[in-house]
Amino acid sequence: MRYLGFDAYEKSIHTIGSSVVFMAREGDATVIICAPQAGVPEPLGFTGQDLGDGRLRVPLTHENAEVLRKHFPFTAPVRGLTRDRSFGVGDRLGIATPGHIKVFESYDVFPVFAQQSIRELNLTGRTYEDVLDAVSFAVFQEGFTKGFGADGDHLKTGKDVAYALSLGFSMITLDCSDYIKAEGAQALTLSPRYQDQYLNKTFTLGEGVSLSFTEKELLQCIGVYADAIAFAREIYTRFFKDDRYEADFEISIDETSTPTTPLQHFFVAKELTDAGVSFATLAPRFCGEFQKGIDYRGDVAQFDEEIQVHGVIARHFGYKLSIHSGSDKFSVFPSIGRETQGVFHVKTAGTTWLEAIRVVALVDPRLYREVHHYARSVFEEAAAYYHVTPNLNQIPEVDTLTDAEVPGLLDHPDARQLIHITYGLILNKKNLDGSYTFKDRLYRLWRNHEGRYADFLAAHIGKHLSLLGVKKIEHPLGMAAPSVKALSRGMGTSYGGISPSAKPGPRISP
Ligand code: ZN
Repeated sequence: MRYLGFDAYEKSIHTIGSSVVFMAREGDATVIICAPQAGVPEPLGFTGQDLGDGRLRVPLTHENAEVLRKHFPFTAPVRGLTRDRSFGVGDRLGIATPGHIKVFESYDVFPVFAQQSIRELNLTGRTYEDVLDAVSFAVFQEGFTKGFGADGDHLKTGKDVAYALSLGFSMITLDCSDYIKAEGAQALTLSPRYQDQYLNKTFTLGEGVSLSFTEKELLQCIGVYADAIAFAREIYTRFFKDDRYEADFEISIDETSTPTTPLQHFFVAKELTDAGVSFATLAPRFCGEFQKGIDYRGDVAQFDEEIQVHGVIARHFGYKLSIHSGSDKFSVFPSIGRETQGVFHVKTAGTTWLEAIRVVALVDPRLYREVHHYARSVFEEAAAYYHVTPNLNQIPEVDTLTDAEVPGLLDHPDARQLIHITYGLILNKKNLDGSYTFKDRLYRLWRNHEGRYADFLAAHIGKHLSLLGVKKIEHPLGMAAPSVKALSRGMGTSYGGISPSAKPGPRISP
């Protein structure tokens, strides 16, 4: 809409003191505009270009994102992992949040909009500052005031945990896989404590589930998990004990080569809780294959049976199951929703990138073909980072497809995986003169079709949420962007859903 002579995002218009602050499109860029409503402008602390008459054009820098989060608390992440339902959506490109907002404003689930692993940071050349700032700006642009989380995903070291927490990330997913020994590892002796606590006992967890350990099973649990448990304890003590940060803690033991058995899950949870480690979520590795960007592969009946027991264990100790690589697992979403009794955290990541590429295939099939050929040429290199097993020979030859057929590749499991894992190489590919081969053209296209991209994402993620059994909200709350009329009367915006005390950032430094 036209507003004060700018191409403004309507829902971004907010008053603060004597100024109005909003986001506007200017050619290829999006900027924040601050303008006085009457008389002197509010001194807000943004750094930008003076446009005269007290107006300021503010570029979307990290410093300005920090100022924005200070004045508009709904643009900063908050804790939400302990709510019944939460859902994490990665955004590798930094452009998906408007589409995510479109879907999350109408479902009863807490969204984690900022979620990236160190691996993804490296492959996309982004920092956690970039990841969080992109979300803060998008949340402001769309006037989304319901609150969102930020997940330092799959962090493996105290250094990375400290980095994410220092920026105000509201959730840490601790990846314990470097400390999990391969299946078959076995402790040599049983200390009296283990004997005492586990042997000749039946653990009755309710809901018809009881567990007991043989000596051999116990020795194996200790052998495989003792170091990982010690690592999680150390990180907990250093960062989470006594609520040192406003952040939730997730334990991830899913990046292993074999599924987590119910006994192993119980052992890890019991050892951690007995040691006083409290955590909001735990991610086991489930049976079958959770490969990126495609549906579940494996025995759905067996999955149903096992997740039922995992669900009982989680309820027994009082945390939620976290389901990783959750994108496109349509055939098991109903059982995840049912067996967790609607209490879960699910994460997806690269599926937003695939939807972005679907937009490319639709509006510029020629550019898509170029990307596709390049992806095929670098598949082996990319496969080193991800566990996927596509059969490239199954993918239709892209040059034989008509333009209208090209977008259909994004519904083809093998083609999805090919494009899914090559994102880093595609984005970073450079020409001889140092310019990007694809990146700039792709971003320009996405910008010119941002409405369509948002629609694709909303439909795709919405399908995930409905199959998980998440209820739709009839009248989305918290979309309290004021009307221009209200602004001219000097009325402010209410930040529904966020308590003023829910401030981001560390309360003390590590
Ligand atoms: Zn994981």
